[in-house]
This record gives sequence, C-alpha cells and structure tokens, in this order.
Amino acid sequence: MLDLLVIGAGISGLRTADLAIAAGLNTVVLEARDRVGGRLHSLPLDRGAVDLGATWFWAGERHVEQLIHELGVPVHAQHLAGDAVYHDPQQTRRLDGNPIDVPSGRFTAGAQDLAQRLADRLPPSTIRLGEAATAVHRTDDHLVVQTAEAEHAAQHVVLALPPALAAHAIEFTPPLPEPLGGLARSTPVWMGAIVKVVAVYPNAFWRDAGLAGAAMSHVGPMREIHDMSGPAGTPAALFGFVPLMEADQPAPTPEAVVDQLIQLFGPDAANPSALHLTDWRSESHTAPPGAELLRAYQTYGHPLWAEPAMDGRLHWSSTETAPVNPGHIDGALASAARVAATVIADRSPQRSQP
Ligand SMILES: Cc1cc2nc3c(=O)[nH]c(=O)nc-3n(C[C@H](O)[C@H](O)[C@H](O)COP(=O)(O)OP(=O)(O)OC[C@H]3O[C@@H](n4cnc5c(N)ncnc54)[C@H](O)[C@@H]3O)c2cc1C
Repeated sequence: MLDLLVIGAGISGLRTADLAIAAGLNTVVLEARDRVGGRLHSLPLDRGAVDLGATWFWAGERHVEQLIHELGVPVHAQHLAGDAVYHDPQQTRRLDGNPIDVPSGRFTAGAQDLAQRLADRLPPSTIRLGEAATAVHRTDDHLVVQTAEAEHAAQHVVLALPPALAAHAIEFTPPLPEPLGGLARSTPVWMGAIVKVVAVYPNAFWRDAGLAGAAMSHVGPMREIHDMSGPAGTPAALFGFVPLMEADQPAPTPEAVVDQLIQLFGPDAANPSALHLTDWRSESHTAPPGAELLRAYQTYGHPLWAEPAMDGRLHWSSTETAPVNPGHIDGALASAARVAATVIADRSPQRSQP
C-alpha cells in the first residue's frame, strides 16, 4: 500500500512526489510517456538545446525560482536586443526596437532540464515510465489505480495531468461527481492546441542585421516569432507559435513556415539546419481529442480543484488547477506545493505514531 501514487511525471507530478518523499511518504509516479517532463520537452543539440514545449520563465515566479536555485539549473536571459518585425497583408515593417518580447529567463539546457534534474533526485524506481493509468477506483479505505501492467493500491492519488485529459483517458469508479466531472471535461489544456515551430540555423544571422528575431505576423501560419538561441547566440534558433482554433485545422507545411521566415528575416532564413514542427494536438498524453475547442479559461484555478474527491483521497495538481500563474511552469509547481501539503498533512499523524 502506497501513501501516494502520482499520475504524470510532468513538472507538477515530479514536484508533488519530491515534496511527499522528502516528508517520508512512500510514493510512486506513473508516467505514460517514455520520458519525464510532459510539456517540458527539449531537444539536445551539439551545443545546448531547443525547446519543443515550454521556453520561458518570468521574474517573480517564486516556485520556479526556488526550484532553479535548489537544483542549480543553468539559466540565461532571453535575447531582446535589436528591432522587431511587424507583418500584415499590406507590408513587412521593421519596428524601432523590440516591443514584442518581454524580459524573461531561459533554461540553458532546455526547460526539460528542470524536470530531469528533479526526477534524478528521486529515489530509484520511484518513476515508472511507459505506464499509463487507465482507471481509478475507490474501495472502503483506499484507491486502486489500474494500468495495463499492474494495479497500484494507494491512500492518496494525485492527477498531475491536464484535467480534460484525465477525464478522457481515465475511468473513475464511482464516476467523478458533478460539477467536478463537467469542470474537468471543459477545462482547456494550456497550449494543447498549438503547433510550435523551431528553426535551427548555423548562426543567428538576424542579429547581424540588427534584428531581435522577434516578429508579430498576420500573414502566414505563425502569429508570433521569437529568438530561441542559447547564450551568445549558440545554438542559433528561431521559434514560432501557430494557433489552431478550429477542429481539423491542418498543421502548416514546413515550406509554409520557411516562406514566412524568409519574408520576415530575409533570404538567410531559407536554409535551416533543422526544422521541428510539434503539433501538441496530436500528443495523446497532453491533449484529448477536440482540445482546440475548449475555451473556458475561467475554469483555471477553480476552487473545486483544491477539494479532494473520493473520500478526500483524489487530488488535482496540473498547471490548469493553479489560481496563480495557471498555464505556466510556475502554476504547475504551485499546484504541486498545495497538493503535497494536503497529502502530507493527512499522512503525517499516522507516521508519528509509535
Ligand atoms: C508549446 C508550449 C509552450 C509553452 N511555453 C511555456 C513557457 O514559455 N513558459 C511557461 O511557464 N509555460 C509554458 N508552457 C506551459 C508549461 O509547459 C506547462 O505549464 C507545464 O509544463 C505543465 O506541467 P504539468 O505537470 O502540469 O503538466 P504536463 O507537463 O502536461 O504533465 C502531465 C504528465 O502526465 C503524463 N500523462 C498523461 N496521461 C497519463 C496517464 N494516463 N498515465 C500516466 N501519465 C500520464 C504526461 O505524459 C505528462 O508527462 C508551454 C507549453 C507548451 C506545450
């Protein structure tokens, strides 16, 4: 019998487990993918890394700052210097300065580094990769989580995955009570309906032209574009977001995104050394089918997320459940701190008995 079973080894689930284990709780984390990090997904390059998921953190995000400090994660500032570009059907206009980017921090080895370092400090065998939870059922005095491989009995279970995905992919017995079930089904997956484009180049040629690598575009598939280079421009990369608002809207072709980059940054943009298009809609361990149609962002941080279900044993801890900075890495960590405190408070009296 586990004290705690965490479903999902994204940053929220990992931090929940980390805090629970530090308090002495017998904890296991199930992770459907063959890697940790969830929406923190980085691709290592020869020198440095690029991010296919989250990229930035911002000043004042205290949960992120605390974890960076604890784990000694190398970080650097987002490149801001130079002019931005504005692009609409009438014109491609070079702006005076860069009003598009705001100051932010970057993870030098990629954002997944934060998750990997956290995973590495958990006791061996805590994380079971490639094992997806398919069902949770309540018994008289504990919960049972089912996977294709095993059944796990636990006093507490934390759903550390987007609520709409949990409602879609996990069968609950008894079913989630209303209005909690409806809330979960209607909660948008943050960035679950976006294509992220990363174009890697041999050098940050746009900087040589005095450009920041930042653009706002109403022509072509990407709406906003930013510099994603490492410290001192190595590795050199640009990234852009393609919003997908309609059901079945196709992802752009590589040719369409390169054409747009040429229009914005000139002919040097024609030959990226690598081009990555990540369609987060097709990541079945992030977004349920139809994620692009979920719009009820007011569900983020709803008070019901902080009320455990199933006799006080079933908890929620993804970024979507955070009242502060929901959607951000910081929100995912804040949720983890909240839920870990609840579970630890419940389990600690038993532990202190002789
Ligand atoms: C393209 C993109 C750009 C972003 N940019 C930023 C940014 O710049 N700054 C920022 O702060 N945030 C950004 N975000 C958001 C940030 O990535 C998230 O807030 C954060 O990573 C969420 O962490 P989480 O642990 O709550 O959820 P997730 O990372 O989604 O973790 C959930 C985990 O559960 C696993 N899982 C799913 N189903 C099951 C199952 N049935 N059984 C077991 N495991 C399961 C998943 O594989 C995953 O590992 C971005 C996200 C994306 C996609």
